Amino acid sequence: MLDLVAEHAAYQAELDAAWHATVQEAAFIQGPAVGQFAAELGAYLGGAHVVPCANGTDALTLALLSLALPPGTEVIVPAFTYVATLEAAAVLGLRPVLVDVLPDTFNIDPAAVRAALSPRTGAVIAVHLFGQCADLEALRALCAAAAVALIEDNAQALGATFTFASGEIAHAGTVGEVGTTSFFPSKNLGCLGDGGALLTRAAPRAALLRQLANHGQSQKYHHQRIGLNSRLDTLQAALLRVKLRHLPAAQAARQAVAARYDAVFATIGGLQIPARDPRSSHVFHQYTIKIPEAGRRDALQLHLSQHGVSSAIYYPLAVHQQEAYTFLNYKLGQFPIAEQLCQQVLALPVQPALTLAQQEYTSACVRAFFPA
Ligand SMILES: *Cc1c(COP(=O)(O)O)cnc(C)c1O
Repeated sequence: MLDLVAEHAAYQAELDAAWHATVQEAAFIQGPAVGQFAAELGAYLGGAHVVPCANGTDALTLALLSLALPPGTEVIVPAFTYVATLEAAAVLGLRPVLVDVLPDTFNIDPAAVRAALSPRTGAVIAVHLFGQCADLEALRALCAAAAVALIEDNAQALGATFTFASGEIAHAGTVGEVGTTSFFPSKNLGCLGDGGALLTRAAPRAALLRQLANHGQSQKYHHQRIGLNSRLDTLQAALLRVKLRHLPAAQAARQAVAARYDAVFATIGGLQIPARDPRSSHVFHQYTIKIPEAGRRDALQLHLSQHGVSSAIYYPLAVHQQEAYTFLNYKLGQFPIAEQLCQQVLALPVQPALTLAQQEYTSACVRAFFPA
């Protein structure tokens, strides 16, 4: 699905130089590149505060820690997401409350959020799944009216923007109380190991998050809060500075691949191309098609693998179907859209380094599977 060697080849010399300079400087923890990267990413995101941390899951943990919610407080999350979205809440002794997603965009359903809000709710975590913003207009209004914090799990949509009815345009991850992201190697902005960050527009929130990510201290050996050891390595920050310079081109390349797939697939009956919410840009962390007919998705995946085309299922199980979350006592059938999507979705290669020939071959293989 992802050939990082091919992607890095275009700027290998820059990565090597950043690596060597960092080894020479030997400031491996909180070295200068960490702050420089945070400032540069903040500028890319329209002036947001960026607090780097160790990974995207820690970012979610830190976001929730910064809200200081009492144990047992409910945190509303989509039933169709990567497990990290609610893992952080569960680890902190908060109670994940699942809601279903929308069948077209795969993002959290605001009507389901409204129905799930209760006096016990402390936060809503919206996931901008596969690279497109959830309905931030509805979610922001709902959370404001209920005086509940909106957290954006932006591990998959860094760089996407959302246009509100007022005309305001905001970057994904900078709308809610806190946004989180991940620099896991396969993400749109990936490092060469683990990394993550928190995003916020509020300077006091950024200061609190920075403290929580560094053992609850603002001054060495003076600990005001119980925090985590969750820092972005200097080496990863130095490499991320290089990759951030190439991110706009990489995003455009992903969008061009998606547009080519769309053009070929739009006329195929039995296959639904990714729905575009006109209010959001889409940075195509994944290009996910939907094949509604029972069993056809798996048959297509087999057909593709027999022709040497990789594809992947994100996600094969909804959250309530995971063994670890049976304690939440949800029943099969309770989140029908999420369960259905697990049977119907298939992600095709969309990475920026794909050659035109590779894209055309993939398109042709998909086309050939369906009757003309
Ligand atoms: C990748 C991802 C995470 C977790 O990020 P890590 O850096 O792997 O901890 C969280 N949420 C979503 C939606 C993700 O895709």
